Amino acid sequence: MSDYDFDLFVIGAGSGGTRAARMSAAYGAKVAVAEEYRVGGTCVIRGCVPKKLLIFGAHFAEDLKDARRFGWDVPDCRFDWPTLRDNVLADVDRLNGLYTQGLENNGVEIILDRATVTGPNEVMLGSGRKVTARTILIATGAHPHVPSFPGSEFGITSNEVFHLETLPKRVLIAGGGYIANEFAGIFNEFGSKVTLVNRTDVILRGYDAQVRDRLLQISMTKGIEFRFFAEFEKIEKQADGSLLVSMSGHDPIEVDCVLFATGRVPNTKGLGLEAVGVELDKGAVKVDADNRSSVDSIYAVGDVTNRVQLTPVAIREGQAFADTLFGGKPHQVDYHCVPSAVFSHPPIAAVGMTEGEARNKLGSVKVYTSDFRAMKNVLAGRHERALYKMICDGVTGRVVGLHMIGPDAPEILQAAAVAVKAGLTKDAFDATVALHPTMAEELVLLK
Ligand code: NDP
Repeated sequence: MSDYDFDLFVIGAGSGGTRAARMSAAYGAKVAVAEEYRVGGTCVIRGCVPKKLLIFGAHFAEDLKDARRFGWDVPDCRFDWPTLRDNVLADVDRLNGLYTQGLENNGVEIILDRATVTGPNEVMLGSGRKVTARTILIATGAHPHVPSFPGSEFGITSNEVFHLETLPKRVLIAGGGYIANEFAGIFNEFGSKVTLVNRTDVILRGYDAQVRDRLLQISMTKGIEFRFFAEFEKIEKQADGSLLVSMSGHDPIEVDCVLFATGRVPNTKGLGLEAVGVELDKGAVKVDADNRSSVDSIYAVGDVTNRVQLTPVAIREGQAFADTLFGGKPHQVDYHCVPSAVFSHPPIAAVGMTEGEARNKLGSVKVYTSDFRAMKNVLAGRHERALYKMICDGVTGRVVGLHMIGPDAPEILQAAAVAVKAGLTKDAFDATVALHPTMAEELVLLK
């Protein structure tokens, strides 16, 4: 008989928490998971999944236009936001059900309540129930950061954007990162007037400069307006419900919606972590390579930690945690060569070092690029060029980075990332016969 109510108590049923709970229970542990909102977490409920469905929906705007060049008689089409919104939300409900089922099928007790840590092995639920566990896993994720200035409460975040009553005619998007560029594309395709406002002139910091420039140029051609070096001063709600946004260095702008996409903050506030001795780093739980915090019995995975904020990484961390603690297969997550993508219009995908990083780290690098118009875009009369960039170690020829912007770039890069992760050289790419005619063949034809 265990001295504790549970072997494992997980706080947060998002990507990382769900995987850890489900796998640990499958290994035979007695597991409970507490979730204060909905099982599935940010990615499933109000992130990657509904966002990607909106991306698909948005793409029809261009596809329907291009179809005419391919001989289709397409009448003028009207987009109905409530139809897409409700269909997407219904799919989110379906996935929420599947995630819940996955936990239940493995015997995990789901507690729909807020939990706070009251001791190294003790958790207090919102209901007042106290629970003990040999191990506690913090998997509470993160929430959108909203800058503080007069009227900022009139804005929304990615939490609310999926539920909008009506599609805004004019939308201001604050920030220049993942969410800002993805939603700039989505709203623009749906016909909203989009203005993206950022505090610097850098969009998608961390991605290759040439690829970022290409997105900026294409986005501007599509009609998205950019305002850089702007600090928000105030938002005033006007009599007709519109919002007047004032910012430094630019004229005020009148819009119907302000979407804040200015980063995400780990959910550690009010969790009781510091009181029991868990060390935080700028609000994130500090963990070692085994996901263990500064308190031996408390672990953390996913966006609540100070590592990579990506769903597949959180899932790997949850899996490694369960394998190590309950599965008798100890291992650690390898963060080298984690691919990533931005589902902008067109999308970006990357793995490994940017050209700048490689030059700083390796000194000698060789860069190969292909700057081309996708076949489909040529016939469609769409003046939009794709860019593929391969960064190689100048001495060994090993591919150390791959960066792409163009149609289906994330789909193509996922496969190519295997080769980069495996440490292959450009020769190995060159030795592979092209698959013609595709966009991906550019990767084996780089000069
Ligand atoms: P990002 O970190 O991508 O970008 C934040 C943007 O907001 C930057 O342009 C930054 O400016 C700006 N910013 C940051 N802090 C402030 C502030 N205090 N005031 C004004 N502007 C500020 O954040 P997102 O919110 O777009 O996304 C959050 C995270 O979610 C991402 O980091 C990513 O890990 C994840 N995500 C991943 C997706 C994917 O994989 N496709 C999709 C969506 C989200 P600057 O850089 O100029 O300093």
